[in-house]
Amino acid sequence: MAATSERHVFQAEVNEVLSLVVNSLYSHREVFLRELVSNAADAIDQLSFRALTEHGLLAEDTELGIEIVRDQAAGTLTIRDNGIGMTRDELIGNLGTIARSGSKKLAQSLSAEQKKDITLIGQFGVGFYSAFLVADSVRVISRKAGSDETWEWESQAKGDFEVRPAERASHGTEVVLHLKDDAKEYLEEWPVRETVRKYSDYVRWPIRMEVERKTGEGDEQKTEREWIKLNAASALWTRPKAEVEDEQYREFYKALSHDWADPLAWTHFRIEGTHELTGLLFVPSQAPFDFGERKHSGVRLFVKRVFIMDDAQEIVPEWLRFVRGVVDSEDLPLNVSREILQKDATTRFIRKQVVAKTLTLLEELAAEGETEREVEGETRKVDRYELFWKQFGRAIKEGVYHEVDARDRLAALLRFRSTQDDEARCSFGDYVGRMPAEQTAIYYVAADSLAAAKSSPHIEALKKRGFEVLFMTDPIDEWVVDALREFDGKPLVSAAKGALDLPESDEEKKAKEEKEKALAPVLERLGKALADDVKTVRVTDRLTDSPACLVADKSGMSGHQERLLREAGHDIPKQQRILEINPDHPVIQRLESMTDEQRFAEWSALLYDQALVAEGALPSDPGAFARRVARLMTEGAP
Ligand code: ADP
Repeated sequence: MAATSERHVFQAEVNEVLSLVVNSLYSHREVFLRELVSNAADAIDQLSFRALTEHGLLAEDTELGIEIVRDQAAGTLTIRDNGIGMTRDELIGNLGTIARSGSKKLAQSLSAEQKKDITLIGQFGVGFYSAFLVADSVRVISRKAGSDETWEWESQAKGDFEVRPAERASHGTEVVLHLKDDAKEYLEEWPVRETVRKYSDYVRWPIRMEVERKTGEGDEQKTEREWIKLNAASALWTRPKAEVEDEQYREFYKALSHDWADPLAWTHFRIEGTHELTGLLFVPSQAPFDFGERKHSGVRLFVKRVFIMDDAQEIVPEWLRFVRGVVDSEDLPLNVSREILQKDATTRFIRKQVVAKTLTLLEELAAEGETEREVEGETRKVDRYELFWKQFGRAIKEGVYHEVDARDRLAALLRFRSTQDDEARCSFGDYVGRMPAEQTAIYYVAADSLAAAKSSPHIEALKKRGFEVLFMTDPIDEWVVDALREFDGKPLVSAAKGALDLPESDEEKKAKEEKEKALAPVLERLGKALADDVKTVRVTDRLTDSPACLVADKSGMSGHQERLLREAGHDIPKQQRILEINPDHPVIQRLESMTDEQRFAEWSALLYDQALVAEGALPSDPGAFARRVARLMTEGAP
């Protein structure tokens, strides 16, 4: 046999992850058992699912389950399952490479301090490699269901592994751990039993182990061996809520999601009536490093306790991809396929429930505020919704955009910083609650950064009146607001678009009209000088300190939106916006009295360019802008 053994080197990422795991998770090393048992349970799930349609794959009398075998003489602990098994290529692919892109980059970018943070490490999907926490050598013997070939994979985690043909009576996998000297406790009955009970009690397949029992007295005493079941082996979500402890929920979550951190919150529900459905949904406490690009769902679909699929996108909208958990339907057929799911009315029902239950959970978190909670074993004051928002706020925004039916509920969950408080975030509800009686709209300003938003000329008059302005600094914010249009009957108004329609007294109105009349000539001259750049020039009601700003039409694209689209590579035509000027600003007064046409043209260009700069954009010809400023500085020099 040895002659046919082939040596393979690990993909570089694997070495990286292996050393991270072994060095960082040392003090949590008992989790290896949870990881291997969870892989075994997944393998059985997959087999039982395939056996629904592939008759003959599973013999009638097979009792599916997991066995743990302690071999004192050999110093090994074996975890074996009669699940789907792996082919030779799968052994090499699954245990020699890391599928998740970006893992290496992440591993390299972690600082020494971060490498101690198991919640970060957990993101690599380190599952199987945790075997090396307790073993100096690992053998995996596996036979794929439906195949008559068995293969063995062996590694000492020193950069390579070997693959060779082997023998095994039937389908499934066994992972043989040759325990390190300091991990020999796992050859004893109790450490194994306790670890299984702690981490894997809810695993729905039985986990059995052979134990020794002494019987009889004195000379009659005999040691007998018997197989016992270590776990309750009933699906956790089928148990009544009152019988499940928080700790069990947490461990269930960790095994299900391969996350090492505790979940932030969960909801466990049962629906009875025309449709019967049980669900257990978790909100993680930390977003995976690739959350932005990630498209797959983290909710597993079961039908009558039989695992059906991992990534059931039909029942979980994409914006809810942060949710992990299970849903178990009594109504779908066991042989349900993607095609059936797409058509079945039950799917829509399930999807609706997943959305509704998650929203209710988030609303509860939002209402909760700061509370004392146990976090990773310590009692701390936390605002769970704030934690959620920092990690997954983006998802709620996507939801506002896509989940039209739940738009109002989602809008209430949005959080923004504002002129009121640029640290803590507020909701539209908080904002509306603080609105002075004469204010009719919700104002916001979009900018690339908080600093740019705070000093935006567009919000000067609003601030002066004591109207709060929300800061929208996330690129998708403006699209979300455009989709939303209003909250609680109050229109959402961009400080950089259309007319602000600020409430004004008759005197104010009259004074403005007079100013407009008086300024008509300069407005016209400016309009001519900037004919290529602006649509029109008008007197502003939004500026108090700055001389000018650029605004879009009410339904037009703001300068910020235009810039974002350009940066994203969209070829959009130049948007002509409106130049608004501040009649009380000395610059405008100087322009009024300027007779030299060439100088007037220079100043007009400067006025336009500085309005761009003030909103965070670059003038189209930055060189020319800089020269004009320099000239102005020389002119004005004493
Ligand atoms: P993860 O479980 O997060 O995908 P692991 O490193 O734990 O990562 O396992 C890698 C892959 O190896 C699994 O996705 C699975 O395809 C395969 N695998 C691991 N253990 C088993 C097993 N007992 N039976 C069948 N396949 C397994």
